[in-house]
Amino acid sequence: MSSIPSHTLPSYLPDHDLGPWGTYLQQVDRVTPYLGSLSRWVETLKRPKRILIVDIPIQMDNGTIAHFEGYRVQHNTSRGPGKGGVRFHQDVTLSEVMALSAWMSVKNAGVNLPFGGAKGGIRVDPRQLTSGELERITRRYTSEIGVIIGPTKDIPAPDVNTDERVMAWMMDTYSMNEGSTATGVVTGKPIALGGSLGRREATGRGVFTVGVEAAQKIGLQISGARLAVQGFGNVGAVSAQLFVEAGAHLVSVQDHTDTLYNPAGLNVAALQAHVKEHGGIAGFAAAERIPPAQFWEIDCEILIPAALEQQITEENAPKIRAKLIIEGANGPTTPQADDILVERQILVVPDVIANAGGVTVSYFEWVQDFSSFFWGEDEINARLVKVMREAFAHIWQTAQTHKVSLRTATFIVACTRILQARELRGLYP
Ligand code: NAD
Repeated sequence: MSSIPSHTLPSYLPDHDLGPWGTYLQQVDRVTPYLGSLSRWVETLKRPKRILIVDIPIQMDNGTIAHFEGYRVQHNTSRGPGKGGVRFHQDVTLSEVMALSAWMSVKNAGVNLPFGGAKGGIRVDPRQLTSGELERITRRYTSEIGVIIGPTKDIPAPDVNTDERVMAWMMDTYSMNEGSTATGVVTGKPIALGGSLGRREATGRGVFTVGVEAAQKIGLQISGARLAVQGFGNVGAVSAQLFVEAGAHLVSVQDHTDTLYNPAGLNVAALQAHVKEHGGIAGFAAAERIPPAQFWEIDCEILIPAALEQQITEENAPKIRAKLIIEGANGPTTPQADDILVERQILVVPDVIANAGGVTVSYFEWVQDFSSFFWGEDEINARLVKVMREAFAHIWQTAQTHKVSLRTATFIVACTRILQARELRGLYP
């Protein structure tokens, strides 16, 4: 952390261990030389605009009272209301929520959505809660952060361990407190409550769209290309399905239960049906089982990490044989591995652009809620593809101009847009 002047470090994090926020600060330092005269505003990016820490007391089913810690961080709202998910996980920390909120600022500006960046979380293992306890913790958290969220202020969405049922409770709680139904306060809602068609598949569709664009740039044919996917959940399975429909062969899949290999190509629909029934890919007959570490050495053209953070590391990056990596997951590549991939000339489409399809359709959901006019699925998919293609083209051009990676280029594009808005607005008072 020595490159970060001490006055830029927040007093509320231990300066010897900034965690994910420290990683984000280093990324900002890396793009600062490309920001020209806007760099005089760069400090804005190094300080979240607003941090709310809340105590969430709830009555457990056994009659005891338990307290949980919740957060909502609005990193930047220069370009529009805050936007970002809510995570329920026992390891959630303030540093993590701060970094995730900043990465939402970058993602939203990178694809040019009129949103700032925000993120929320509760330090809780939701698997230990009954359905009633989960509903009470969600409602109390929503009520506590209700002072800073709202359809024109900050719009939460699902993230790790939160889903459309949680969004329905959040929408209802906020609406009850306001005295009127506010569908636009959260996205990722059930369709019956103003959710958008196409939202479930949106992230995978975005991964596929930018993947096709990137493949074209390096002369890689999708038809006949071999694909390996880590994570066969929402993002991984939809991405795999779209690539296979375009003629690619899914030769390897890894999830938390097993690693499978079939050089002739796995049947995506059959694998999805198996996962639905058994909760994972383990036991799927039409493939060979291989040791987990071997997944990263699979002979393939396209690799999609779509599971967890920090999967591509210094150890496995030198062994990867793919020509193109599309980051479906958030933060799947460590900074050290990133440098190795750049050196090996493996093209990486970074998370901040590759998985932005989800928030893009969240934006469409918010727009539809505001106008109370709902679009058909074809229209939503066509608009999504347009947004993703335009974003990719701009970022590709920026990477060429500055001779930098697509990750750095996305940060340059996004930070420039955020700081331009900051400069145009000026300082108040
Ligand atoms: P999901 O829960 O639907 O699927 C997660 C997958 O990862 C599962 O197949 C699971 O088995 C696998 N997995 C878990 N632990 C693993 C391990 N140790 N090794 C290998 N595989 C493992 O989640 P999702 O919504 O598909 O999200 C996946 C990633 O994409 C996350 O990083 C998430 O933050 C990111 N993301 C998701 C969206 C979205 O709209 N769903 C949007 C942007 C980013």
